[in-house]
Amino acid sequence: MDFDAAVIGGGPVGAATALELDAAGLSVLLLEAREARELPGDERPIALSYGSRLILERLGVWDRLHNATPIARIHISQRGRFGRAVFSADEAQLPALGYVVDYVTLASVLDSALAEAQTRGRLQARRGTRVLSIAHDPASAHIRFESPSGMDECYASVVAVADGNAEAAGVDVRVVEYDQTAISARVEADLPHGNTAFERFTPDGPLALLPCGSGYAVVWVGSPGSAEELCAAGPGPFLAALQAAFGDRAGRFTRVAARASHRIALRIAAHPTAGRAALIGNSAQALHPVAGQGLNLGLRDAWELASEIRKRGPTDPGLMQAYSARRRVDRFGGIGFTHGLVKIFSNDSSPLGLARGVGLTLLDNFPPAKDFVVRRMIFGARG
Ligand SMILES: Cc1cc2nc3c(=O)[nH]c(=O)nc-3n(C[C@H](O)[C@H](O)[C@H](O)COP(=O)(O)OP(=O)(O)OC[C@H]3O[C@@H](n4cnc5c(N)ncnc54)[C@H](O)[C@@H]3O)c2cc1C
Repeated sequence: MDFDAAVIGGGPVGAATALELDAAGLSVLLLEAREARELPGDERPIALSYGSRLILERLGVWDRLHNATPIARIHISQRGRFGRAVFSADEAQLPALGYVVDYVTLASVLDSALAEAQTRGRLQARRGTRVLSIAHDPASAHIRFESPSGMDECYASVVAVADGNAEAAGVDVRVVEYDQTAISARVEADLPHGNTAFERFTPDGPLALLPCGSGYAVVWVGSPGSAEELCAAGPGPFLAALQAAFGDRAGRFTRVAARASHRIALRIAAHPTAGRAALIGNSAQALHPVAGQGLNLGLRDAWELASEIRKRGPTDPGLMQAYSARRRVDRFGGIGFTHGLVKIFSNDSSPLGLARGVGLTLLDNFPPAKDFVVRRMIFGARG
């Protein structure tokens, strides 16, 4: 089997890449470990930036995300200290700053788009198929994989590795542990959310409330021990702890559902390319969930890799170098931004608390700085 392009991993980033390469007229093989019709067992909420909406529109899948909840405002504060900044879609002159969906809905919408693309002929998606290794020669990559029917192999001129952890690429990955765990959950409150998202920094970690349907999707970061306890606690104690951590700006929390815990680490592939393969999405960099940047950055990886392949062709010898150079600023911008936020905000230092308060107040009152931050959060460091 020979293909112009192989995509390893059919999560949101891999699926987006395969759709765009198919639209560019390339023969594409997508290999995904999940079985057909098996949904990811993970209901994490995803705040898609307005920039990601534009990418999903170009892929023809945005209109299928009927339940996406728009974010009109983002309110940023720190617990027990002064200072806040509010970003608004009106100020940014956009219809919304972003949209909240859940990972499972996004994955299934992309799965349906892949299934439709497959019926048109050029794209093949093989599910229940795990990639074991990739070997490179100057002109192509040799991929070995395992499926229920046994071992198999293929050749591709270019490979997009979107397996979420870079294992398939066999490259070195640097891991920075935060000693933090995120709890995701859905909660209802007795006040309407008015499409406002809250990011509240606490010494233990950030707490985000994202408007989602009639309530909020919560991403609450803390120490692994306390997160596991809160995940296992009854609804009453959980809601009381959330109320104590967040305060009453969103009203009284009345119900909780769909709690799950996620261990957090920063994982950075030493090089975003290897031979004929480009690492994209979480394979290239898995970020702390603060500020909801990981998938948005991954979708930009996907879009820009596909654009570079469109422009140069899949066999171009300079393709990987060009892709790597094109993504450097945005990639390190995303890593530095999220890691910096965690380091600056996840501590109880009084002088730093004061400096953060002054920083948030200045940001809130200086429109050019606000515009700079909003544009980078929405469109990335090249935006
Ligand atoms: C609690 C939490 C909240 C988050 N919130 C946000 C947010 O608000 N906004 C945001 O932008 N990001 C957010 N993120 C980050 C976001 O979830 C990830 O960045 C995103 O899921 C990465 O997508 P991906 O397609 O690169 O990888 P994944 O979603 O991990 O998909 C990888 C795919 O590859 C497949 N696979 C793995 N190994 C193989 C193999 N060997 N062969 C074949 N297939 C394989 C897997 O089955 C999977 O389908 C959050 C993360 C967490 C933990």
